Amino acid sequence: MLSLTDALARLLAGTTALAETETVSTFEALGRVLAVDVVSQLDVPPHDNSSMDGYALRTADVPQPGTLLTVSQRIAAGQVGAVLAPGTAARIFTGAPVPEGADAIVMQEQCEPVGGGSVRVQIRPTAGQWVRRRGEDVCAGSVVLARGSRLTPQALGLAASVGAATLSVVRRPRVALFSTGDELVMPGEPLKPGAIYNSNRYTLRALLQSAGCEVSDLGIVPDRLDATREALRRAAEGHDLILTSGGVSVGEEDHLKPAVEAEGRLDLWQIAIKPGKPLAFGEVRTSGADRPALFIGLPGNPVSSFVTFLLAVRPVLQALQGLPGAEPAGWPVRADFDWPRPDARREFLRARRNADGGLELFGNQSSGVLTSAVWAEGLIDNPPGRAIARGDIVRFLPFAALLA
Ligand code: AMP
Ligand code: MG
Repeated sequence: MLSLTDALARLLAGTTALAETETVSTFEALGRVLAVDVVSQLDVPPHDNSSMDGYALRTADVPQPGTLLTVSQRIAAGQVGAVLAPGTAARIFTGAPVPEGADAIVMQEQCEPVGGGSVRVQIRPTAGQWVRRRGEDVCAGSVVLARGSRLTPQALGLAASVGAATLSVVRRPRVALFSTGDELVMPGEPLKPGAIYNSNRYTLRALLQSAGCEVSDLGIVPDRLDATREALRRAAEGHDLILTSGGVSVGEEDHLKPAVEAEGRLDLWQIAIKPGKPLAFGEVRTSGADRPALFIGLPGNPVSSFVTFLLAVRPVLQALQGLPGAEPAGWPVRADFDWPRPDARREFLRARRNADGGLELFGNQSSGVLTSAVWAEGLIDNPPGRAIARGDIVRFLPFAALLA
């Protein structure tokens, strides 16, 4: 059996980053990977501006609290004031440029307007107070977002703040997906005796989409060698990766192994993880000049395919997009449960935090119980053979980090 770390190293060694890039609207760039650094042409903010509604003034004009100043102008956000006349104050609002000559803002709560267009300043201001400096967020010429980083909502905002209407990103990985299994029917169809609904198709399709892929969903392929080979040939054309679920054990009804061997090349691995274990990795020939499509066959059990996707497929998709594809780091969290009979394999237990900040386990850790993956907030990464006692510190991988 192969360790997950070794399996991942082999998977990543067989993966080359996509070279093609495209330019997309910054609106459409969520989750994409930047192909080129975003360099700012401007300072942000572009001018010193007020962070308060109040009065802009010269501190030298207010030697003591209670000083009276004439209000010489009014500057709202979006307007540019005149040079501040000495001995006067400018009425100013949040975001408005600080007029030349002023060196501080006094918030309106500390000023008292008096009749005849004057204001009494109730404090003694210090230079620079409530002024947001030009360039304090971004300096012109600096890299604000580095190539190879994934675009989060806040990264899109930062790109927009330096005026980027479009971004150059790595093209999406193209992935063909199919499920194997004669027992599978689709939701919306009647459930015949002996059948179950196809859940992996929904989980895996959504996981691929959330990882930034363009998905070609080829549906369900019957448990027959010729049908499986035909599906693989179709899936290979125009795709970077073929992802399947089910049929990777070595039972008589498991046709993926001989089918991939006939259409390309395959390694069948037993990975020492639970849930998971069988994982098929290889490639399928294409007819044209395209490079072969990568092939990953996940186990059929719904929790196994979900977990192996997170642990093994997602890093490959990241590597295709030029991201590091590293094993996710976990957080140390206290176990509020006992796990006296650990597996000899590295386990990924479905768990969530309780109100005390400790972890609770879902009662049924079977690889067919999808409820566990919905109830849980993440996986406990438990080393082979390690028993857990209440109070022990374990490594927790939140789904939020595994799906990021
Ligand atoms: P297999 O890997 O094909 O031997 O399947 C292992 C188990 O997972 C069997 O109980 C299958 O019925 C179940 N299974 C396989 N594919 C799916 C699927 N797409 N949705 C839900 N369960 C599945
Ligand atoms: Mg099957």
